[in-house]
Amino acid sequence: MRIPIINSKRQYESIAAKAEQAVLEVMRSGSYILGENNKKFEQEMCDYLDCKNAIALNSGTDALHLALRALDIGEGDEVISTAFTFVATSESIGIVGAKPVFVDIDADTFNIDANKIEAAITPKTKAIIPVHLYGQPCDMDIITDIAKRHNLFVIEDACQAIGAEYKGKKAGTIGDIGCFSFYPTKNLGTMGDGGMAVTNSTYLKDRILALRNHGGAIRYHHDEIGVNSRLDEIQAAILRVKLPYIDSWNKKRREHAKYYNELFSKCNLIETPKELDETYCVYHQYTVKIPNRDEVHKMLADCGIGAMIYYPIPLHLQKVHEKFGFREGSLANTEKNTKLVLSLPMFAEITKEEQETVAKTLIECVQKTAAMV
Ligand SMILES: *Cc1c(COP(=O)(O)O)cnc(C)c1O
Repeated sequence: MRIPIINSKRQYESIAAKAEQAVLEVMRSGSYILGENNKKFEQEMCDYLDCKNAIALNSGTDALHLALRALDIGEGDEVISTAFTFVATSESIGIVGAKPVFVDIDADTFNIDANKIEAAITPKTKAIIPVHLYGQPCDMDIITDIAKRHNLFVIEDACQAIGAEYKGKKAGTIGDIGCFSFYPTKNLGTMGDGGMAVTNSTYLKDRILALRNHGGAIRYHHDEIGVNSRLDEIQAAILRVKLPYIDSWNKKRREHAKYYNELFSKCNLIETPKELDETYCVYHQYTVKIPNRDEVHKMLADCGIGAMIYYPIPLHLQKVHEKFGFREGSLANTEKNTKLVLSLPMFAEITKEEQETVAKTLIECVQKTAAMV
């Protein structure tokens, strides 16, 4: 049995009739950019997240990049974030000409260690970008408290965390700006690229609205250098079909995570993911820590199981950041976890039988490789 890490086709089949109808209506309408579906999707996201403003964009990367632009962060500024994330987080800091300053992660949650942020603040620090990795919210009370005391902005990278909650608040609505991605494999994924920035600030909403459309709120009046980062009407229409299902899909992911935990409880070589108190984790990834990870990963692939390493090289050691001179050994938990993590097949439609096959195979591989050393 082949079990991929995500099966997008299975989700599509469950909403095919509605999605196809929605796309057909867009095609027939003749309105393909910044139309009705954009407006409605933005409003529906505000209602879902309980926030004041949502700006639909072309990607999560653009949401991060335009958030930084809207806050006037650029050359000479420093932005604190994590190196244990997808490259888009630090890339967005680089796009605006600022310097990423990486703080180590908490080994249990894989998120930025909020207690280590303060030591990284300098007079150049302008913002913190916490990433709710794998769908697990960061410790936002500590982060917002530090930001307030040091006069810093908070941009939440909630690209993996739509629907996740921290103390009853939706991830992405706690900081100054929240960033979402609708890349096809995300918990709320479209059939192309898509993203969104959300904010309770009217000023920041207007800035991002202008930046996404060539730096001007009024057509053919350009106040600053912007970008073209609009969400297609077709993508917005598909997302509007999917949004009503997100809570039930996330709930299923949580049930699958619980079942994996149960299946792995008999193997103490496999460390299962932890949840912070008072958070609602949406398991964008279900990520375990195992010994002999690379070998086990290969063995699983040979058995047709699509496990993945998120992410194989931490950002401070990526060539793109070479110029900053970050050193190996500087982020102990980040580097250690990079060598241990393995994300397993996780999607709302996965069956119990498939999970059992994944678990049985993983346990066998982990035990086999452990016995060899
Ligand atoms: C997916 C992702 C992004 C970027 O989103 P795109 O829509 O692919 O540009 C940024 N940060 C994190 C943590 C992500 O997972």
